[in-house]
Amino acid sequence: MTTLTLGGVSLTRVIEIGRSSFPTTSMLPESTPEAVARHHGWLKPHFWDEATDDLGSCIGTWIVRTPEHLVLIDTGVGNDKPRESNPIWHRRAGTFLDDLAAAGVRPEQVDYVVITHMHVDHVGWNTRLVNGVWVPTFPNARYVFAGEEWDFWKHESERGADEYGCIDDSVLPIVAAGQAQLVDATHRIDDWLKFEPSAGHTPGHASVRLTTSAGDAVFSGDLMHRVVQVAEPQWSSRFCYDGKQAAVTRREFVERHADTGTLILAAHFPRPGLIVREREGLRFR
Ligand SMILES: [Zn+2]
Repeated sequence: MTTLTLGGVSLTRVIEIGRSSFPTTSMLPESTPEAVARHHGWLKPHFWDEATDDLGSCIGTWIVRTPEHLVLIDTGVGNDKPRESNPIWHRRAGTFLDDLAAAGVRPEQVDYVVITHMHVDHVGWNTRLVNGVWVPTFPNARYVFAGEEWDFWKHESERGADEYGCIDDSVLPIVAAGQAQLVDATHRIDDWLKFEPSAGHTPGHASVRLTTSAGDAVFSGDLMHRVVQVAEPQWSSRFCYDGKQAAVTRREFVERHADTGTLILAAHFPRPGLIVREREGLRFR
């Protein structure tokens, strides 16, 4: 478990699944093994998974303790969820809640659950199965969603286009319980955390900026999936709703954050890092 401290705010990552569910060339259809290999020099060893001989990737949650609030950012895949098309995600029986407890978090203590976007690997632990019913995992939390994101996925769910059914089992129960807080994509959560729009991967995708006396960090959700996209921002993922827009958003993001010292916490990167401009181009270090 990784814990960082930035200006009085602690950041702890709980990893639910420590390995990629998709090879890089499948995840980033415009990439090729040869093009990725040109970056091996800086990707290895920190961002490389020797076991798969591919870029490292993981799924999990960030626990953010600001001076006022206990906040979770994104909630992984979840347990017991029917996800037939992906064996790694299907009816999991993982140790996520025990791992949260090991990090000192009991579900009832969580003040906010902040969701960057409503994909299946980001909303799963919003709910858990109790006596055959999906109930909010965090009973006292407000779940913060960008309204534009919710509008899109509500419509997708209603027309039967929610591929995994994650809106039905992981978002609708939150809305029904009255725990959803629909906000605009620039919403301020508290004095330290605020949403920033970063659409493209999904229509209402939002990043979360942490501002502290010791500098900024950005939870960038799925604005980038694989570390190599820092150097190749034109490569969008096969899961991007609007690949062209995602590439524009990504390029703007990496250019804007290069050499600023802003800590980048991308949902699936194996570790945090900084975007730096080097002789050969933009890199993640
Ligand atoms: Zn994701």
